[in-house]
Amino acid sequence: MTAKKDLSAYKGVWVFIEQFEGKLTSSTLSLEILGEGRKLADKLGSDLTAVILGENVAETAEKLIKYGADKVLMADAPVLANYRTELYTDIICKEAEERKPDILLVGASATGRDLAPRISFRLHTGCTADCTDLDIDEDKKILVSTRPAFGGNVMATILCPDHRPQMSTVRAGVMAMPTWDESRTGEIIKVEVTAKEEDARVKVLEVKQHEASSQNIQEAIRVVSAGMGACSGECFDQLKELAKELEAEIGGTRPVFETGLISHDVQIGQTGKTVRPELYLAVGISGTVQHTTGMADSRTVVAINKDPNAEIFKFAHYGIVGDAKAVVPQLIEQLKAVKA
Ligand SMILES: Cc1cc2nc3c(=O)[nH]c(=O)nc-3n(C[C@H](O)[C@H](O)[C@H](O)COP(=O)(O)OP(=O)(O)OC[C@H]3O[C@@H](n4cnc5c(N)ncnc54)[C@H](O)[C@@H]3O)c2cc1C
Repeated sequence: MTAKKDLSAYKGVWVFIEQFEGKLTSSTLSLEILGEGRKLADKLGSDLTAVILGENVAETAEKLIKYGADKVLMADAPVLANYRTELYTDIICKEAEERKPDILLVGASATGRDLAPRISFRLHTGCTADCTDLDIDEDKKILVSTRPAFGGNVMATILCPDHRPQMSTVRAGVMAMPTWDESRTGEIIKVEVTAKEEDARVKVLEVKQHEASSQNIQEAIRVVSAGMGACSGECFDQLKELAKELEAEIGGTRPVFETGLISHDVQIGQTGKTVRPELYLAVGISGTVQHTTGMADSRTVVAINKDPNAEIFKFAHYGIVGDAKAVVPQLIEQLKAVKA
């Protein structure tokens, strides 16, 4: 039997903060996790450290203290301007090996899903992906990570008792935003960046702003998804209105993408994106496996289909059998009435 590692030197909660052009990204995910990190650090009686890498991030680092961080570990250099897996992994792992955080939290965004497993592998620790709840075990003082499993039918509680840091990625929209406290003060620790552009194996040639969708659909809390049964001009316009009322992102099936009504970055399924929103509204979608593989873990699925035997109903918590052209306007009307 191998001897148990001494974990007593590992202290504090770290939260990786995503930035773009030196500023916090439009998604509030990093701040949501910072707020949760604050609660965990308070329960453990330890410090909360925000970890930010980028170029010209000093101003953002100050903000993180006002949002609840005790310390900010800041790597500020032109070579870090754009996220690159290798450079970011190298720096975070080196700092974690030296400073020994007890917990390291990362957003379950495209960047976080790329970064977190690299770090956990390099540091020989575990990583619980896509958590919806985090807590501290009062007796053992260890992180308790909760995430849906088996298509959302059970909630799995995962512990990492023997390795450090305890790592989790966290879904967007499930943790509350922290409040801004102007009076907060903290320490900004500058990390020396020795990496050079010429050593980087990945070169960023150009950064293009996303035009198609206002938000990454994988981070959306609500998704209104169009199938071929909701594709007529009139019906698709109604869906857009419904999405607006629900503050949801529009997605759809592959055939809908092929009609040109939606872009590929919001196609859901095997050859598109996987989404796990709080609400997935499937309108005029038959429910083939190539589609459901990308949405089956959604918290609540509502399906509208005129065929009562459509497969999609097997994945739905609520089903409406009817013509989308008639049902969708009624939903819009009801939502407007509720809001009024
Ligand atoms: C290798 C491969 C990869 C694929 N990858 C993907 C993928 O990533 N994502 C994906 O979505 N598909 C993918 N597909 C395609 C997939 O197999 C299905 O063809 C597709 O998901 C069906 O799309 P749909 O439900 O919009 O259309 P359909 O299967 O045509 O279903 C339309 C549905 O709308 C209902 N309907 C019709 N009119 C109305 C109305 N007025 N009101 C209410 N309901 C109505 C019908 O009853 C029907 O159930 C892939 C296929 C292959 C072979």
